[in-house]
Amino acid sequence: MSRNAQLFERAQRVIPGGVNSPVRAFKAVGGTPRFIQRAQGAYTWDADGTRFIDYIGSWGPMILGHGHPEVLEAVQKAALEGFSFGAPTEREIELAEEILKLVPSAEQVRLVSSGTEAGMSAIRLARGHTGRNKIIKFEGCYHGHADALLVKAGSGLATFGHPTSAGVPAEVVQHTLVLTYNDIEQIEQAFATQGDDIACVMIEPIAGNMNFVRASVPFIQRVSELCKQHGALFVFDEVMSGFRVGLGSAQGLYAQLIPGFQPDMSVFGKVIGGGMPLAAFASSREVMSKLAPLGPVYQAGTLSGNPVATACGLATLKLIQQPGFFEQLSARTRQLMGGFVKVATDAGVPLTADSEGGMFGFFFAPELPQNYQEVMARGTDTFNRFFHLMLDQGVYLAPAMYEAGFVSAAHTDQDIADTVAAAANAFRRL
Ligand code: PLP
Repeated sequence: MSRNAQLFERAQRVIPGGVNSPVRAFKAVGGTPRFIQRAQGAYTWDADGTRFIDYIGSWGPMILGHGHPEVLEAVQKAALEGFSFGAPTEREIELAEEILKLVPSAEQVRLVSSGTEAGMSAIRLARGHTGRNKIIKFEGCYHGHADALLVKAGSGLATFGHPTSAGVPAEVVQHTLVLTYNDIEQIEQAFATQGDDIACVMIEPIAGNMNFVRASVPFIQRVSELCKQHGALFVFDEVMSGFRVGLGSAQGLYAQLIPGFQPDMSVFGKVIGGGMPLAAFASSREVMSKLAPLGPVYQAGTLSGNPVATACGLATLKLIQQPGFFEQLSARTRQLMGGFVKVATDAGVPLTADSEGGMFGFFFAPELPQNYQEVMARGTDTFNRFFHLMLDQGVYLAPAMYEAGFVSAAHTDQDIADTVAAAANAFRRL
């Protein structure tokens, strides 16, 4: 029995399903999860000593690769000064200043410990600010596991969603309307019938939780107009795309294409913590002043703005601002996806791919999907076989078809070439 298998057996005795977050259990793709022992640069090593080229990067945070020396130094120094004080620190101000410098849509930011917490707090703030209860989200977008967001579409446009998890009372999601991503007509209808009751529209602008699906430019533009007309807040969940698809995040990309575009609120996580538990939500001074201790919307956290996490995030954010950083990262990621499409085509396998900055997705289909239904229509069998063929060759992709992948600055041309060679072999054997 492999050490991975032994650990999985042992883990299942004391941890539900053997994991502390469900996707790690390999349920979607089958097989034994790899227990990671250490990581460096673009690689992870599992408990059996097998090396993998890592395209998960902790699901996004590790944009510099693992164990970047300058990040390590910042974390070590911060740890020596103290783990947590429960009192304000100068480093929180520095990180807030750094985030706001890169996010022109926001004037103030609050730091929290997870993307879930940030998304949940953003919704509460949007409701508190507008005095309205209803929220709109889109099928296939994940915003963390807050009760009000664990919801799937109801039977018609007029009906609100159904919980997707046991333990979430129907009453808790009765104000959450779930619409189809990229469907302009549908959201126009929703605003026409209940626009004045809607507190916010929350979206993953580049949806990495249905693999990789971009919100179309006309869609973002229209939703933004509708929100403005009706006094609702447009909330960009950039937990995954933030500082990952570019230094200006996804909102920066849309701002280049839609004159004057800015979301009303943004949610960040992953990269801003550089691998430590750190996330944030940000908006105008007017909206943020509704938060406690200034305003009536309560929000708090024992470990919020943690000194070691902020040191890690700050060092990471500084390093991704080096000249040419995103140009090089984007080029590597395009090289990877271009390589996949080429060798798939050579093997007669229909494949489409897309990427932005250091984030990518690919589909076993001739066209890129536009929404969740289209993603799920692709079927998972081919992906699951491909995943294991790649894993067996030392390439660790996300263990589920509906997850995005991530390239880091530590991935070399050789890593990309080795990955494409492994993919060529896998496509031939599919
Ligand atoms: N929002 C998005 C877009 C995410 O991808 C995730 C996590 O993957 C979250 C929110 C939740 O973040 P966390 O897992 O840190 O709670």
